[in-house]
Amino acid sequence: MAIDVKNLNYYYGDFPALKNLTFSVTKGDFFIIIGPNGSGKTTLMKIIAGILKLQKGRLEILDCPIESYARKTLAQTIAFVPQLTQLDFPFSVKEVVLMGRSPYLGMLGLEQEKDLTIAKQALTFTDVEHLAHRKLDQLSGGEQQRVFIAKAICQEPEIMLLDEPTSSLDLAHQTRLMDLMEKLKNEKGITVVMVSHDVNLAAMYGDRLLLLNKGQIVHLGRPEDVLTYQTLEQTYGCTLLVDKSPLGKIPRVTPVPQKYMSVDIKDR
Ligand code: ADP
Ligand code: MG
Repeated sequence: MAIDVKNLNYYYGDFPALKNLTFSVTKGDFFIIIGPNGSGKTTLMKIIAGILKLQKGRLEILDCPIESYARKTLAQTIAFVPQLTQLDFPFSVKEVVLMGRSPYLGMLGLEQEKDLTIAKQALTFTDVEHLAHRKLDQLSGGEQQRVFIAKAICQEPEIMLLDEPTSSLDLAHQTRLMDLMEKLKNEKGITVVMVSHDVNLAAMYGDRLLLLNKGQIVHLGRPEDVLTYQTLEQTYGCTLLVDKSPLGKIPRVTPVPQKYMSVDIKDR
């Protein structure tokens, strides 16, 4: 297993943010975590990334307890791409991407030829090579997102975690980013774990979906099993139409606005 979670609980003070989670992520899966705001998605990602300390329960990364990893080894195993935030550092794209090599550098922190080559390949892979000498804070959200993914690729991780990477992207960039993740999974065998607000993207790309609500698991399974209107309406508390996408055996979710509530929907 890439990730194995057993009876995981997490508290912020007395507030239980995650309640008794048990699930696992198979190696090489595209695993997508969905759920309403405040359901604990980011908390869960940060615990898996080793940013928040495990409080109660067990967490194994590649069959070893997370506590047994040294910081550097964990950074060689897991790369975490956090939600896009306001940037306040004046680094160039190349500098940011090279930071991904830091878990591999020696005492002096000097990059070798190999590190430069890997950085260059990562820039090409995410299609930002032409931006290498630009300053990061001068790029669009989509470009910045691809740079951070290039940095994550540079870490040569076995598991890649991404927290809502598509939320600030336009339609074309959303699909490009998801295609890129699929390519990483297919060509490099990387396990991709992503938090997404977009249930339709999750339906099209996820091998397995984990639906969280109020810190608990509502459902875990294939998109067609998780994305039923009964489950989603109960979780999100709104009226939804779930039909089949013309693209294939994929559920398609449409939130129903108030003014269309009276429309007779035969096949939900
Ligand atoms: P999601 O990413 O699904 O929106 P989060 O994991 O960010 O959810 O938050 C889960 C719950 O924990 C929310 O109710 C949130 O208010 C609470 N929470 C998150 N971070 C903190 C914190 N640092 N201190 C206290 N409560 C927090
Ligand atoms: Mg979040």
